[in-house]
This record gives sequence, C-alpha cells and structure tokens, in this order.
Amino acid sequence: MSASGNRHVAPEAKAAATVDWQRVRADFPLLRREVHGKPLVYFDSANTGQKPETVIAAVDGYYRQYNANVSRAVHTLGEQATSAYEAARDRLAAHLHVRRDDLVFTSGTTMAINLVAYSWALPRLRPGDAILLTRMEHHANIVPWQLVAQRTGASIKVAEITAEGVLDLDALRAAMTPDVKLLGVTHVSNVLGTVNPVREVCRMARERGIVSLIDGSQALPHRPIDIAAIGCDFYALTGHKMCGPTGTGALWARREHLQAMPPFFGGGEMIREVRFEGTIFNDPPHKFEAGTPNIAGFIGLGAAVDYLDAIGMANVEAREAELLAHASEEMARVEGLRIIGNAPHKAAVISFLIEGAHAHDLATLLDLEGVAVRSGHHCAHPLMAFYGVPATCRASLAFYNTHAEIERFIEALGKVRKLLR
Ligand code: PLP
Repeated sequence: MSASGNRHVAPEAKAAATVDWQRVRADFPLLRREVHGKPLVYFDSANTGQKPETVIAAVDGYYRQYNANVSRAVHTLGEQATSAYEAARDRLAAHLHVRRDDLVFTSGTTMAINLVAYSWALPRLRPGDAILLTRMEHHANIVPWQLVAQRTGASIKVAEITAEGVLDLDALRAAMTPDVKLLGVTHVSNVLGTVNPVREVCRMARERGIVSLIDGSQALPHRPIDIAAIGCDFYALTGHKMCGPTGTGALWARREHLQAMPPFFGGGEMIREVRFEGTIFNDPPHKFEAGTPNIAGFIGLGAAVDYLDAIGMANVEAREAELLAHASEEMARVEGLRIIGNAPHKAAVISFLIEGAHAHDLATLLDLEGVAVRSGHHCAHPLMAFYGVPATCRASLAFYNTHAEIERFIEALGKVRKLLR
C-alpha cells in the first residue's frame, strides 16, 4: 500500500533534471508492452494516465488482504479498509492544500460537476439567471448545465477564445453581467492544452458575486495545485488521469456550500438517523457519499497521490514542459502539419491535423507504428466548431514519456504522411 516512491526520485522542488526519469518510467509496467510488434509509445495520457506499480499493488493488496466494506463493520478487516479509504482522503486533501472534510469522493469529474449542478444550481437558479461557460469546456462542463438550464429557465452564456486558444479575458469580463450566477471554467483545456489563469478568473467572478467552478481534470496530473490560492467555490477532479484507478475523483467545495447543499443521492452511509417520517443527514463529505464507494479505487488513488508527491509536482511540470517544447518544435517541422492551440502557457497536450488526412486515419496508421494518440472531437464539439474541424488528432504526454519516444512519433508521422499522399 505504500508509495514506492522516494527510492529513486529527488525530493520536492529539486530541478527536473535531478530526477531519474528512466527509473520513474520503469515503475509503469504497461509501458513495456508492444503494439503491432513495435514498442508502445503512449501519447494518450489526457484520455487516461498509466498506473505505476504501487497503485496496482495498492488495489491488489486491498482485495487480497483486507477486502471489507467501509464505515460499517467493527471487525479488523472493516477497520483496516475504512482507515485506508479515509487515509486516501487525507492524502488528496494535503496534496490540494484543503481540509479533508471539504473533499467529497465521486466517480470522477463528471459526477463532481453533476453534483454541483443538481445540488447547488438546481434549487437556486431561476428564469433570467445565467450560467457562464467558456468555448473550451469539455462536454462534462456543458451538458449538466444545459440540463439544469432546461429545468430552471436559466440560460447559458459563452465566453470566447482567441484563435491561438487563449481565453479572452476582456470578453469574459464583459460576459460577467449581473444575471450570471455561476461560472464554469476548465483549468487546462483537454484539446488545446491551454492553462487558464484561474486565479484571476475566480477573482473577477468573486468581485461580482459569481460562484466559480473549476474543472481540474487536466490540471491535477501535471502541476502543483493549491485550491485555496485559486480562490474558487468548487474544484472538480478525476483520479484516472493522475495515475489513479478509473471510477475515482472528487469535488472540493467551500464548506458553506457543502453545508447548504441538499444531498444528491440518498441511501446508506450518508445519514445519521432514518425514520419513515424523515431522515437526519450525516455531515459533509459523507452526506454526498451514499452507498458503497469504489473502495479499492480510492485506496489506489491514495497511492497515486503518494507516488506523485514523491516525484514532486514541480518536477513533473518541469519535465513535461521540456517534453512539450521538444515535441512542438519537431512537429512544427513536419510538412502539412497544423497544430491547433498555440497558447503561450500550455500543458503537454498537442492537437494537430495533417493536410488532406482525416484525424481517425492518422490515428489508425500511427497505431500500426505502435504510437497511441487520440482522434475525434475530444468531447468538445463547440471547440471543434470554433476551429471549423470535425475532429483532431491529439498527442498528450506525461512525465513518464521520453525524448526518444518523441523521435519515434515524428518518424511515424513522416511514414504516415507518405502513405496518405
Ligand atoms: N473535463 C475535462 C477537461 C476532461 O478532459 C475530462 C475527461 O476527459 C472530463 C472533464 C471528464 O472526466 P471523467 O470522465 O473522468 O469524469
């Protein structure tokens, strides 16, 4: 259950160069496999991240050694499971610089945003109110708001971006009219890689009495996050993109919101006392965690947080900036290749197209070379419409990738270009 960690990584805050990245990479068993007889180049971490040995061992250890339900049984296994599950909350809270009880475990970002939509927004919004989103949101930060808008009579407003893929702060400010009650913004775009200035955006919202929700799905795996410093009202995150198991995630919310919000799901574990005449609910975060949770998953998520903390998120960020610079420079030299999203402040996510080729054909041919990239609309139809394309290819890198893999990717792109001519 413990993190691997310190045996081969430098302490927090040391320069990226002091981390032995080859040894870090060796922690990820899946990265040793081949695809179509070629060593795998996994450039799809924005879709889901690979898992280090310690995370796999933590999940395995729970099922082998202390599989039991949490928060119910007083027997030894039950206590061990509960303490490991709650320890994951402590670790994630420390990682994010927040209080543990303000962190609600969810199945991922999608559920976290839906929790805010149904529990915070639905009872509050009225006809004439507005929800402000940005052009670069993932469908998970659009569709729940449309459902709430339909039921409350509220409307959706959109803040536009520049052609480079940068949030237009003047347009955002202008869109913050008195009817806007909630602002939803992604911290990092899953298509463009743009890192949004969330502190500034949340300050602008706060000054106007607008509640802010940040979608942190693509930020948490790649950079240090201090939620208190961001100053948002809600921060949604997903575990599987940050080396954790699928079906894990969380919503952080300001305590006053969690106390005022009614439960989203009802059932066991979220109550203090149930009578047929009525129920007294448990305190947050348990008020929002009805039923048996993904215990193994959250124990794995705790191990993932330990793993990332042992490397140091500042090191992860520096390493990925290096990989991004290398990949962008090489890709810019590929004839006919167009990168979509050129914000000055970017994470290692590169959407691209090659003249005359469909994104899916590109991704299929790259797969034959052992290179895994995603193609499609990336759950961002409004953003695709803005760029006038149905789909893009997306190479998304993580700290466990290597410069040699970038060279292989560029070589594969060269071959694919020839085939498509
Ligand atoms: N938001 C962004 C920016 C994402 O990239 C994703 C996943 O791709 C999500 C939300 C949804 O996350 P999940 O499917 O884990 O709930």
